[in-house]
Amino acid sequence: MAATLIRGAEVASALRLEIRARVVALAARGVVPGLAVVLVGADPASQSYVRGKRKAAAELGIRALDHDLPADTPQAALLELLARLNADPAVHGVLVQLPLPAQVDEDRVIEAIDPDKDVDGFHPVNAGRLALGRPGFVPCTPAGVRELLVRAGVPLAGREVVVLGRSRIVGRPLSILLSQKGPGGDATVTVCHSRTRGLAEHCRRADVLVAAMGQPRAVTADMVKPGAAVIDVGVNRVGLDARGKAVLCGDVDFGPVAEKAGFLTPVPGGVGPMTISMLMHNTVLAAERRAG
Ligand code: NDP
Repeated sequence: MAATLIRGAEVASALRLEIRARVVALAARGVVPGLAVVLVGADPASQSYVRGKRKAAAELGIRALDHDLPADTPQAALLELLARLNADPAVHGVLVQLPLPAQVDEDRVIEAIDPDKDVDGFHPVNAGRLALGRPGFVPCTPAGVRELLVRAGVPLAGREVVVLGRSRIVGRPLSILLSQKGPGGDATVTVCHSRTRGLAEHCRRADVLVAAMGQPRAVTADMVKPGAAVIDVGVNRVGLDARGKAVLCGDVDFGPVAEKAGFLTPVPGGVGPMTISMLMHNTVLAAERRAG
């Protein structure tokens, strides 16, 4: 294999040590970061994500405040809970696990979170701050991708970055982040999507190629420039193993691409662990900002 593997799990552990030190510093000032985690319904994937977030918080000394609501919770009740959490000084971060059941308008719920507690970075105010290059909360997966690239020593300034996917939670904010002025940015970014023509040609120009499409193994070796850094955000369930556990693969055809790329993230163990660490980072940042 030619590519250097960027092991997100290891980077995420290093990051958590740094976050832990900040939690200890806050404790010395009498502050315990509080993260309200709201889960509506019993979707198994959402339950598993929420478990991971609560576990990470507990390990770091962040107080996770659990709010598990039934699937038929009316929107008004959820908005009422968010109003209470916004007003609660023990809560520094509020996270509502998505997707939400059909009777609830997701946009309405996200907009009901205090932007200064919006540790997922999905509130329009934080999206606006990101677009304007002002301090706010950056969505966790894009922030994690940038952190992986920077810590792996992948140059970004002046490089060609191609982002496959333009979603509100991954592709779009990542493209803004990497094209921002300053350290960890300054890249020339192309955003591709399902209407892009000549996708493979765009990809072949990329010094850094980020795949966030949700299309199993869609990025093949012929689409990768030799030596490029390839970041695979995709998490696709492609079947069950003998024990009935979901088999995962990314958006990148891992084996052949590993022969050609300079850097590559695996799935699982790549971007995924970074997402949770960045959520913890945002929660501690929210507590630090409030503490002044
Ligand atoms: P969305 O479905 O919201 O967005 C997918 C994007 O990819 C869209 O912009 C879509 O284009 C584009 N796209 C889809 N198919 C193609 C194609 N064949 N060619 C070019 N563009 C295409 O997904 P998300 O952004 O939420 O997630 C993307 C992937 O990342 C998923 O696999 C998801 O599971 C994973 N993920 C992983 C996380 C982690 O922590 N590791 C966190 C979040 C997501 P269009 O806009 O035109 O429809």
